[in-house]
Amino acid sequence: MTGFETLNRRRLMTGLAGGGLLGLGGCATALTPARPATPSAAPPYVTPFAERRPPIAPVHARMDRVFDITVCLRPFRATGPRLDAEQVGDTLVVHNYGHGGSGWSLSWGSGTFAVRKAMAGSPASVAVVGCGALGLTSALLAQEAGAKVTIYAKDLLPDTRSARATGSWTPDSRIALTDSVGPEFAAQWEEMARISFKRFRRYLGLPGDPIEWSDRYYLQDPPASTPGLVPMPVPPQAGAPLEFATYGERIRDITPRPEILPAGATPFSDGPVRRTSLMQYNVADYAHTLMADFLAAGGRVERREFHSLSDLAGLKEKVVINCPGYGARALCKDESVTPVRGQIGWLIPQPEVNYGVYYRNVSMLSRRDGIVVQALWGGDMFGFGNDQEVIDRAETEHAISILAELYGRMTAG
Ligand SMILES: Cc1cc2nc3c(=O)[nH]c(=O)nc-3n(C[C@H](O)[C@H](O)[C@H](O)COP(=O)(O)OP(=O)(O)OC[C@H]3O[C@@H](n4cnc5c(N)ncnc54)[C@H](O)[C@@H]3O)c2cc1C
Repeated sequence: MTGFETLNRRRLMTGLAGGGLLGLGGCATALTPARPATPSAAPPYVTPFAERRPPIAPVHARMDRVFDITVCLRPFRATGPRLDAEQVGDTLVVHNYGHGGSGWSLSWGSGTFAVRKAMAGSPASVAVVGCGALGLTSALLAQEAGAKVTIYAKDLLPDTRSARATGSWTPDSRIALTDSVGPEFAAQWEEMARISFKRFRRYLGLPGDPIEWSDRYYLQDPPASTPGLVPMPVPPQAGAPLEFATYGERIRDITPRPEILPAGATPFSDGPVRRTSLMQYNVADYAHTLMADFLAAGGRVERREFHSLSDLAGLKEKVVINCPGYGARALCKDESVTPVRGQIGWLIPQPEVNYGVYYRNVSMLSRRDGIVVQALWGGDMFGFGNDQEVIDRAETEHAISILAELYGRMTAG
């Protein structure tokens, strides 16, 4: 087992935040960790044997029900998101980009850091570049801090990469590399995660459920002799496996403990199943809510494309929060922004399916705006360094066939 696999197994078992949490980047092939997460990590909660089986409706996993396939590039930086400020001519530019697979999850915390810097001189007006998860949340926070805010962006949220995310609370998914960041980043990450987590409470229980909690089930791989198993592809290896930083242990107090459900407690499989609960973002509704709040507070939006940082100095606002996501590679000539390709197959929503599943390196999350199906052959390294933002239909077909095999056995049994 490589160090990388050990790491992902560890994250799976402990149910800590991150890609391994059904964000999903983990390798879910085992329910038993090679070693505990840390010496202090609490073991999973073992559900009493008598627990009643929760209703688990099957997903109709068929390609003819896939109504869309989307691809996006996670903006990963080994040193974590860029949050420094620089002077460009007479304009203060505060950067807020490079959040890997954690952009939605960390948005409010990261935006809070950026707005603190932007508002240090109490400007009356602030420009925000970008209208993805980071741009929109930064804009709302700048309004709350008293500024008149204009968002300048090439694309508005429904057309941004943010709209093509899984939509799960994954605050340390591909956020940095362990050996590229120090303890100060871990502390900064924790503050960002806690600020965000608290802010999400405002969107729980609203009409349309912009954010809600849902259960996630991590299934054990069935024995290779199981009839009808679809073979898993060998993942293309993008170089040696890297060790992504994990910080879930730092927020254990706000993270539900995973439970091990005994065999037979769910209709999924013969083996034990790990279950945890996570927040999910129903991105269509959540994004709409954020935009409506921004406009209601007097925010302005202008479609504009910038070609270099010096273009930003031409804006009338002399304080700019820069949130271009992966676009920073071109706009800021920042080659530290590494693409991590991710593709989603969208199945027609099924309101009766109110959970997510991780099975044989395929993740499924049922959202109000579609059932999100993603292949993760090879865990967090899948798509690393790959800037091909083009649809690979075979990848989605394969992921759907693995889910079809799972639900075929479930409903047959
Ligand atoms: C498959 C997949 C699944 C994911 N799942 C999750 C998840 O479950 N949870 C989670 O927290 N995160 C997830 N992420 C990560 C998350 O989507 C990103 O971290 C986040 O979307 C980054 O948001 P952003 O606002 O920085 O960038 P973007 O969404 O890319 O927005 C950038 C904005 O800047 C604008 N822009 C860029 N360049 C220019 C320019 N030159 N001029 C003008 N405007 C410009 C764009 O038009 C856009 O408006 C996932 C990512 C992928 C790919």
